[in-house]
Amino acid sequence: MFIGHNAVGFASKKFAPRTSLLLLMGAPMLLDLLWPIFLLLGIEHVRIQRGATPLTPLDFNDYPWSHSLLMAAVWSIVAGLLYFAVTRYGRGALVIGAGVISHWVLDFLTHRPDLPLWPGGPKVGLGLWNMPRVEIVTEALLFAIGIAVYRNVTKPRDAIGGIAFWLFVILLAGIFVANTAGTPPPDVRTLAWMALSMWILPLWAGWFDRHRDVVAT
Ligand SMILES: [Zn+2]
Repeated sequence: MFIGHNAVGFASKKFAPRTSLLLLMGAPMLLDLLWPIFLLLGIEHVRIQRGATPLTPLDFNDYPWSHSLLMAAVWSIVAGLLYFAVTRYGRGALVIGAGVISHWVLDFLTHRPDLPLWPGGPKVGLGLWNMPRVEIVTEALLFAIGIAVYRNVTKPRDAIGGIAFWLFVILLAGIFVANTAGTPPPDVRTLAWMALSMWILPLWAGWFDRHRDVVAT
């Protein structure tokens, strides 16, 4: 799943209004943010294979450290505890932990059975990617709901709070279209660097979030 994860990040603001969207957006993206690092380090692997599924040319044949259920739970607990240690904001810690593990659940819906339960364990996945129309509509709907929730909870304080927010939404929609309809990256290294560039997204979210006020929760 792609922008479904960002939907979780947006909606999280309602449940932890004092937490920056930088972390609320980063949490549900975390497994995909770790993944390119592990690819570049050579401890995880992926194959680019046109037609692997109707929606993605990627064959996720080996990503136990970023994408097994066990490790997702570990990252979730680590992220929640770290956040709590720094801020003492329990709600925020819980929402961040839930955000991290939500990634695995949403990927479980969309991926074919390539998600290990633990490193070396059996692989699972419901394979919504084999039904492109259902998956695209589901994901777009989630995205729209996430944006609506965030817009209900916050209001722009200045131009940046409005414009940078909408540019972010448009960029994500563009990435979603490119991921589902674009040509696959030429090699794994290029793919890894492209995925690594996604680290900019939580930073961007944190930026416009600082230019918006929480008005309701
Ligand atoms: Zn993922």
